[in-house]
Amino acid sequence: MTNNDFLLELKDVNQVYAAGARPFTAIKNFSLTLKEGEFSALLGPSGCGKSTLLRIITGLQPPTSGEVLYRNQPLIGVNPHATIVFQTFALFPWLTVQENVELALEARGLPPRLRASRTLEILDRVGLDGFENAYPRELSGGMRQKVGFARAIAVEPELLCLDEPFSNLDVLSAETLRGELLELWTSGKLPTKAILMVTHNIEEAVFMADRIVVMEKDPGRLIMDFNVDLSHPRHRKDLDFEEVVDKVYALLAGQTQPEHEELGTAPGEPGPTRRLPKIPISDLPGLMEHLEKATDHRHDIYALADDIKVGSDQLLSLIEAAELLGFATVAKGDIHLTPLGETFAEASIIGRKEIFAARLRRLPLFKWLTTILRASEKNQQKWEVVQAALELEFHPEEAQHQLEIVVDWGRYAELLSYDDKSRVIFLEFGGA
Ligand code: ADP
Ligand code: MG
Repeated sequence: MTNNDFLLELKDVNQVYAAGARPFTAIKNFSLTLKEGEFSALLGPSGCGKSTLLRIITGLQPPTSGEVLYRNQPLIGVNPHATIVFQTFALFPWLTVQENVELALEARGLPPRLRASRTLEILDRVGLDGFENAYPRELSGGMRQKVGFARAIAVEPELLCLDEPFSNLDVLSAETLRGELLELWTSGKLPTKAILMVTHNIEEAVFMADRIVVMEKDPGRLIMDFNVDLSHPRHRKDLDFEEVVDKVYALLAGQTQPEHEELGTAPGEPGPTRRLPKIPISDLPGLMEHLEKATDHRHDIYALADDIKVGSDQLLSLIEAAELLGFATVAKGDIHLTPLGETFAEASIIGRKEIFAARLRRLPLFKWLTTILRASEKNQQKWEVVQAALELEFHPEEAQHQLEIVVDWGRYAELLSYDDKSRVIFLEFGGA
């Protein structure tokens, strides 16, 4: 058998970053093939390695190990047949729309006499005719992103990679642009053989893609790959649309479910430290109250995203926090309040803080922090010192995130304080 119909193949790709004292596995044993004609979505929570994978696929970065084949040939250096559209496309403010697009053609070595005609044709195709001479500042966010698309399409890539291309736009512009891109793709007006779109938005993936590749983090890995057999145009309110969305939610929420009491170990101890989900803890009570009002204290996770108007990524992080604290459990796409969660939802503000504090004290990361503070003079320590200690476990950016979260949660529980001026974290009197 020949593999000639594969546009791209990733075989057992691993990416290890060594920025912190401990090497950090961002991508683990990732294999994937892309064929011509496919519009695939790569879906997963923030930090699962989606952008890293796009950089590997387009040759901007070689993986630590594993193979990247493009049309059966090992990829060496930047892939000339692929381009990426980023979340915010960096347009040059001093160049017009037309000049911004022409620049991409110049970079690809197209002779000057061909640049202008190709550019005008592309601008026309994506609906930007009439704006050739406009400067980026005159355009709305949605229009600017369209210029980004035009610039990517102008070089006629075989593989068009999109990295969360709609996530910085307002709701309406995003929806318009999604529709326009789909129309270009389904009508064959794109010079592109395949699209790979990265997103953390479940509905967006189901709305647009023919195939969804689902990833999880810690470490970033593939957990499922399935086809979306819905015809275009798709409608979010259709039953079969909701069914697919439900399926993905169930899958992702099930993955974040801690095994019974699986809280991980403290930093520096053997075994992985469980990362805290990135949410401001003040968002949690809203979710708990909403669940408390639901029949049987049970709620369909998909419907929940709609009800409380948060993005899917953020909702899954909130749910993860509720599970981690023992306030809720997740099964088959439903979230269910535990008796403790019920008590929390019904409690007064003070009562809630006490319940939350009691649960927080059990989390290894929090225990570790309080041990450090207790061992320090005046029960206080500089932020930088604590972060440096955490960098033995996480790479620097993640260490900073984790410290921000644990301090935010500790302040909410009134167990910790933080003084922004002196950048000092300290234990509250009688805290922890
Ligand atoms: P995503 O796009 O899914 O949010 P990324 O690919 O950006 O994920 O990052 C995956 C993980 O790798 C994250 O934890 C991120 O902080 C880390 N990471 C990304 N790039 C680097 C780098 N150059 N050095 C160290 N860590 C990195
Ligand atoms: Mg990313």
